[in-house]
Amino acid sequence: MIVRTGCLSPHVAPAQPDHMRLVWREPYKGEERVRVFAWTCECQDTVYELRHAAGLAYIRRRRLINGATELRETYRWRLGEAYSVWGALLGGQAR
Ligand SMILES: [Zn+2]
Repeated sequence: MIVRTGCLSPHVAPAQPDHMRLVWREPYKGEERVRVFAWTCECQDTVYELRHAAGLAYIRRRRLINGATELRETYRWRLGEAYSVWGALLGGQAR
């Protein structure tokens, strides 16, 4: 995890060559109560959030592509599993 001066949230480390490839899907469209538990720094064009909804957790990716915002989500996991994927994402072992 890299933290720069002036940035309060973590930045993701560069992806390692053998990193785990996450499946990034269209966001869930339904209504649900979501809590955001962790996020990466807003200074980057790609921001990740660790979110809980309906007892499960997932990661949301927000990317700026040519001025347009693209939203993607991972599959949903049990909390422990989601936290380990989140750690791998920050460390560059997953993307
Ligand atoms: Zn930053």
